[in-house]
Amino acid sequence: MKSYLYAASLLLSNLSYAQAPVTGEAMLAKVNEQITNVTAEQLQQQIIDQPDTVIIDVRTQFEVNLLGTLGVYQNINIPRGWIEFDIAEAVPSLDTPIVVYCGTNVRSPMAAKTLMDMGYTKVSNYAGGYFEWQEMGLDVNVGTLDATSFLYQRAEKVVDGVYTAIGALAPSTYQNSGHNNNLSFIVADDAVVVFNGGGSYLLAKAMHEEIKQVTDLPVKHVIYENAQGHAVFGGSYWKEQGAEIIAHENTVEILHETEERMVDRAKRSLRDKFFGSYVVYPDRTFTDEYVVPVKGKQIVLKHFGHAHSPDDMQLWLPEDKLLISGDFAFNVRMLPVLEHTDMLAWQENWPQLVELDPLIIIPGHGGVTDLDTVTHYTMGYVNYMVDEVMAVLDDGGTLTDAYKIDQSAFRQWKTYRELALRNAAELYKIAEFEW
Ligand SMILES: [Zn+2]
Repeated sequence: MKSYLYAASLLLSNLSYAQAPVTGEAMLAKVNEQITNVTAEQLQQQIIDQPDTVIIDVRTQFEVNLLGTLGVYQNINIPRGWIEFDIAEAVPSLDTPIVVYCGTNVRSPMAAKTLMDMGYTKVSNYAGGYFEWQEMGLDVNVGTLDATSFLYQRAEKVVDGVYTAIGALAPSTYQNSGHNNNLSFIVADDAVVVFNGGGSYLLAKAMHEEIKQVTDLPVKHVIYENAQGHAVFGGSYWKEQGAEIIAHENTVEILHETEERMVDRAKRSLRDKFFGSYVVYPDRTFTDEYVVPVKGKQIVLKHFGHAHSPDDMQLWLPEDKLLISGDFAFNVRMLPVLEHTDMLAWQENWPQLVELDPLIIIPGHGGVTDLDTVTHYTMGYVNYMVDEVMAVLDDGGTLTDAYKIDQSAFRQWKTYRELALRNAAELYKIAEFEW
C-alpha cells in the first residue's frame, strides 16, 4: 500500500514538471500575426470589386438563426467546426477570394488560418464581425425582426386606415414563420378588409392581434393575392372568424392542382408553426374587377391579367391612389419564374399598372414604395430575362446556355442566390415550348 502511494506521489510530481498546454489565447495571438484582416469598409468595397468573393459566417447555425447574418448574397454559413469538410463543395477553386467572420473575432481568425493551410490563396478575416456590421446599420438577414410576434415584423401604417406588415425578403423558413410576403389590412367604416390570408393559421392570428390594436371592427373580407401558400394558409384562421374569402376565379383551379404538394412543403418548413393551417377555398371569386362592399372606403379588386401567375390580384384604393399590387410588382427582391409565370403577358399587362398612376405601392414583396421602383425591380428583370432567353433560343441554344445567362447585374437583389439559376432554367423550359 505504502509503495503505491509513493509511486502515485512520484507520478504527480513528475506531471507538475510537464509542459503546460498552449492556451487558446496564445494560439489565437499567433494566428492573428499570420492572417490578413479587412475592415467593414474594405469588405463592402471588395463585394463590389470582386463580386465572386465568398463570405463565410463561421458561427453555428443556432447563432445565425437567433441573431442573423450578413445580408449580402455572397454570404454563406459554414460553422468553424465543419470548415475543413464543407469548404471544398462551397468553394471549389483555391483562387476564389474568401472572407471569414464570426461574432467577436475569436473563431474566424482560426478559420482563416485553416483555409490558408488548406491552400486557399486569397483568404481574409473581417475582424469587426457580425455585431459591428449590424451596429453600422448595414444589410443583415435576420430570422425575425420582432421576437414578440409570429410576424417577421409588425404592421405599420401606410396611410390613414391602411396598414401593412412587410415580410422577410427570403424564402419561407421556420425562423421567419413563413411571413415572407406582405400582409395588409384596410379599416373601413363598418369592417376590416385583409389582403392576404398569410402563410399559416398562427400568422393570421398574429395579424389579427395587429388589427385589434387599431380597431374593434370585425374582419369581414379576406383576399388571396394568388394561390400560393403564403397567401392562403391563414384562410383557416380567418374562416373561423367568419370572414368571407375572396380570390380570382383562376385561384380555385390552381389550388386544386397544387394543394397537396404545397401543404407537404409548408409542413416540412414550418413544422409545429403550421398548426391549424389548411387550404380554405374562396367563398367568392371574380374575373376582371370586384368592388368590396364596405362603407366609407372604395376598395376595388383588379386583375390586370396573367403575369407572375394566372390569378394575380391587385387591390386599388382610388381615394389614396394606393395600390396593393400582389405579386404583379416586386421591390428589392428578385421575382420568381414559376411554372405558371408568363413573362410575355407580364410585359403586355404592365401598362395597366402604369395607367392607374399609383402614388403609393405596397408590392408583393419588399417595402412600401413607388411606381419607378417597382418598375425597376419588376420590369427591369422581366425585360432583361425575356431578351436573354430569346437570344438563347434564336441561337439554337440549350438549357445549359440558359444557365449561363449573365445575371450579375441583379446580384444584390434579395433571393438572387436561391432564384437566379432556377429562373433561367424555368423560363427557358417555358419559352422552348410556348414562345
Ligand atoms: Zn409572393
